[in-house]
Amino acid sequence: MPDFRINNMLFPGGKRKALTLSYDDGVVQDRRLTRMLDRYGVRATFNLNSAFLGRVERAVMEGAEVDISTVLPGEIPALYKNHEIATHGSRHSSPVDGGSSFLREVMDDREALEALVPYMVTGHAYPFGLTDEKVIAMLRAAGIAYARTVISTHSFDLPGDFLRWDPTCHHDDPRLMELAEDFCTREARFGRPQLFYLWGHSYEFDIHGNWERMESFLAYVSGYRDSIWMATNGEICAYLSAWDRLIFSADGKRAYNPSAGELWIDASGRICRIPSGETAEIG
Ligand SMILES: [Zn+2]
Repeated sequence: MPDFRINNMLFPGGKRKALTLSYDDGVVQDRRLTRMLDRYGVRATFNLNSAFLGRVERAVMEGAEVDISTVLPGEIPALYKNHEIATHGSRHSSPVDGGSSFLREVMDDREALEALVPYMVTGHAYPFGLTDEKVIAMLRAAGIAYARTVISTHSFDLPGDFLRWDPTCHHDDPRLMELAEDFCTREARFGRPQLFYLWGHSYEFDIHGNWERMESFLAYVSGYRDSIWMATNGEICAYLSAWDRLIFSADGKRAYNPSAGELWIDASGRICRIPSGETAEIG
């Protein structure tokens, strides 16, 4: 990542902070979670297994019986309207053990999910968090732009590689509220942009009986909404990818935006918006 972006990149609206969530498996508890997210204006990406949609199932996890039934295909457009859906392997098979079947599962997910929403489905969360170089090559071939791991960074750094996108933490992380406070109340050195990336499964709130934990987190972070871009994973990936396509003049005083959407830059302390197809004075 070039230093230029670290110091000058701004999120939409000239903001220096972004928040995104990622929830896996498309379980029925997503209904309660999306209602909660929508109440606070926080946005997420939901990673679905297309072959399992509409499945009715209960399981014993961590000693508790829990409903792990999945949402119905027909409810997906309305349920996830303010969010994004992404692939998670049509049958949740291990990406590293199944050979080319993983590629097939991702393509099956893309086809099935794209039939339900008006946009291209280009995101992924690794089943079981497993990945390697071969898996990443398959995702590239499948047209996947970003993929999430389960490795907590406890940091707010932007991903260096979108196909190895490590989250900040899981919602049950003991440091959740400490990290949230740090993120909301402190500015990074040198004006560096910051991203808080939270992940989990919504059935875990039933297992642990801790929906209020999520409610507290959302209530807290949404209090800082004026300085935080609430975005899906895909919007962040698309925005940063467009930012990387900015073309700068040799003297660094002008920037041309060849992308389809507007981009924002810190022009020596001035917040500058560069509309699509336009050149801005940034020196
Ligand atoms: Zn999963």
